[in-house]
Amino acid sequence: MSPIPSSRIPVAVLGATGSVGQRFAALLADHPWFTVAVLAASERSAGLPYREAVRWVQPTPLPEELGEMRVVACRPEAVGECRLAFSALESAVATETEEAFAAAGIWVVSNASSHRMHPLVPLVVPEVNPDHLDLAARQRFGSGRILTNPNCSTIGLTLALKPLVDAFDVEACHVVTMQGLSGAGLTGVPGMQVPDNLIPYIAGEEEKFENEAAKILGRLGDDGIAPYPLPISAHCNRVPVSDGHTLCVSIRLGRPATPEQVIEAWTAFAGEPQERELPSAPRPAIHYLPQQDAPQPRLHRDLGGGMAISVGRLRPCPLLDYRFVTLSHNTVRGAAGGSILLAELAIARGLMESDRQADR
Ligand code: NAP
Repeated sequence: MSPIPSSRIPVAVLGATGSVGQRFAALLADHPWFTVAVLAASERSAGLPYREAVRWVQPTPLPEELGEMRVVACRPEAVGECRLAFSALESAVATETEEAFAAAGIWVVSNASSHRMHPLVPLVVPEVNPDHLDLAARQRFGSGRILTNPNCSTIGLTLALKPLVDAFDVEACHVVTMQGLSGAGLTGVPGMQVPDNLIPYIAGEEEKFENEAAKILGRLGDDGIAPYPLPISAHCNRVPVSDGHTLCVSIRLGRPATPEQVIEAWTAFAGEPQERELPSAPRPAIHYLPQQDAPQPRLHRDLGGGMAISVGRLRPCPLLDYRFVTLSHNTVRGAAGGSILLAELAIARGLMESDRQADR
């Protein structure tokens, strides 16, 4: 059980009007540890009440207390006393902005790809590589820190692979994705491309799989992170599903395992967030679904409040050893919810506090 902060921590949301930023607003509205003090977006939105600046597309109503809050520009001096900022900025904007926030002493938990592969920036799935958070102490952006979430599909894949890596090693992986529309942002896919269609290309996504998964599953040492040696062949597709990324995965294991042992590895899995009982930690983190036609985005993406992943259709693979299907909610576990869990983990590990004392 983790210590509960004595009072709710004021936080800023950067990129609060976008697809992921709205998820942050919705998930943080009732959060026991955090309170939204600042909503920030581009100069186009700055000065407007949030209700007017945002085109709200969440399945829950816009939180009453946030509607009248004035949106500010994404500048450190605009966020007042907040020492923690959740970033849902486009990468093109995030690089400079997040570094400016860190230089100003603010901890940034980011969804953007800008800093994910930086050698001193932790790229963390809280159940998979919580120890990588220690890397943040070596950063030199300023007295703040930058922590990152992986790409939305990589989160689902690495969470499904982690129990198998621990138990049997995984030597090769082939993955075909069917990624929901919200993963492209609010205006990412033109309407005419959606019905009766799929798009067999997502810019940069296949490379992110290879690089990010190896870093996340890698080992932290004195010289930084040694990547896990896992060749991944990825095919990424955009499909007409609102939320939810479904992955068809084939793997070769390092040691033999029966189907029962593979399923047991998934169902018995619990990570540090579950052990610490963090507020956003799903229990269980992985649902194995025995139905022959599961998982499906509409039916299963909200398991564990959108924070759990589901796995199904485990069967032998004639090319590698096993194949299965895994599903995760891309804007909850794959973005805003994953970042909130990461911030909870950093706080529970005492990192923000010890950092503040070191700066005194
Ligand atoms: P989005 O819907 O396009 O939202 C972009 C946000 O950035 C908006 O709030 C926008 O504000 C703001 N912005 C744009 N230009 C800006 C500028 N010059 N200065 C300050 N703010 C600016 O994008 P999204 O899908 O939410 O994605 C946000 C980030 O999360 C991206 O880096 C993306 O790669 C990553 N990500 C997304 C997902 C997903 O499933 N969608 C998953 C994982 C990671 P205005 O409204 O004022 O223009």
